[in-house]
Amino acid sequence: MRDIIRQWEKEAQALEPSTSERKGLRKQVIDYTEGFLENIGTDRAFTKDPEKGKNIIAAQLGTERQSIEEIVEKLASELDASGINPASGGHLGYIPGGGIYASSLADYWAAITNRYAGVFFANPGAVRLENKLLRWMADLVGYPEGAHGNLTSGGSVANMVSVIIAREAFGLKVRKIPDAAIYLTKQAHHSIAKAIKAAALEECHIRYIAMDDQYRMDPLSLRIAVEKDVEAGIRPFLLVGSAGTTDVGAIDPLNDLADISEKYGMWFHIDAAYGGFFILCDEKKDTFKGIERSDSLVIDPHKGLFIPYGLGACLVRKADNMKKAFSFQATYLQDIAAHQEEINPMDVSPEMTKHFRGLRLWLPLMLYGIGPFKACLEEKLLLARYFYFKIKKTAGFEVAEHPPELSVVTFRYVPDHGDASTFNKAMLDYVHEDGRVFFSSTSINGNFTLRLAILSFRTHLKTIDLAVEVIENAVFELNKKQ
Ligand SMILES: *Cc1c(COP(=O)(O)O)cnc(C)c1O
Repeated sequence: MRDIIRQWEKEAQALEPSTSERKGLRKQVIDYTEGFLENIGTDRAFTKDPEKGKNIIAAQLGTERQSIEEIVEKLASELDASGINPASGGHLGYIPGGGIYASSLADYWAAITNRYAGVFFANPGAVRLENKLLRWMADLVGYPEGAHGNLTSGGSVANMVSVIIAREAFGLKVRKIPDAAIYLTKQAHHSIAKAIKAAALEECHIRYIAMDDQYRMDPLSLRIAVEKDVEAGIRPFLLVGSAGTTDVGAIDPLNDLADISEKYGMWFHIDAAYGGFFILCDEKKDTFKGIERSDSLVIDPHKGLFIPYGLGACLVRKADNMKKAFSFQATYLQDIAAHQEEINPMDVSPEMTKHFRGLRLWLPLMLYGIGPFKACLEEKLLLARYFYFKIKKTAGFEVAEHPPELSVVTFRYVPDHGDASTFNKAMLDYVHEDGRVFFSSTSINGNFTLRLAILSFRTHLKTIDLAVEVIENAVFELNKKQ
């Protein structure tokens, strides 16, 4: 038996490269990523080539072996040469972020040491580090002592986790679900609808509350809807506010919403996945007033703090409500129970084994402090305003009546003749074909509308000037054709 074991051991040895083999592997990856970063300022933000990736499918996964050189080359041509380039400052679609370099080193570290941050017993340092980050974010939004949270893979999962916590805090059992009501606006992110479905709350009364002309929930309409429900014997359960909607960056009147939520004993959840970190900006503090009165909220470091994809957070005013939803015992976990100096991330989350994702935020914060992040957000606010006024001044363009609340600007061109939506779709195609900048579109009041979202840390004044130039070129070329 010992001989057979040794044989298998020898074959498995490939998984533990030697010092010099590691050096060889590392060099290929580092050389490639360094080259990638050297060119990021001039590389395209978007390349349309749906053929890419087919060679990935064609390779015999599991039986074929390739050298690291071949693999790097394959990734470079099959992945990095098509689609959106989210690392580019020219990425101005959806919600960008960029992905700061320091986080990649934290991920490298986390992957090599493979620390387990699910349970205090398993790694007190890793759990303290992640819990510290959550307390830091809780302080940022003004949550009181006793607040807690969980680091998730992103905002959608964080919204799901929050809605489940709300349901459990309310003790909302199946039979009661059809008698409960949820309030939100049509601007709420679709991950809220996903969360409602996943939490089996679809049979609640879902009330879409009217908005003002800047797409913010109208508190009076909310109050009327809630009172009507109460009179009808329906229980107001969950109020979902947005602090930065994806479509236009609207921030609901959070303090008014908190008043109503408190009065009727609802759970007040705020989706600040996109907008949350703008609370760091001096002139925005007042706009976020009331955020500290919510019961739960979602905030995405992979958006507003420019961390590479894979880091969201949910914060909850009372830690006990998180445990109600997610704390369980098991015989094979009996050693863990005695060590409770910190809340185990596992006890406040649907996850157990997870990526040690806190490090990718902690390391950059320790390196730089919050200063450069704040500066970057202040810059983005002003860039959005700068773009808004530039487009507003340009003949033929229609923008919102008010300058952007955060860093999303919606606009469309209204041609002298012909259908505006068709024209704007053609403009978007032109921009995508050009590829130096990328933006996406949305529909506002049924109108096809272009949308520029500025949140990559690599987007600067020259990027926005370029965006304006590309837009002007598009209008010129398309008008020529008409
Ligand atoms: C991006 C976004 C989400 C979803 O977050 P992911 O990290 O993409 O899962 C939720 N709400 C808002 C307002 C968002 O902008």
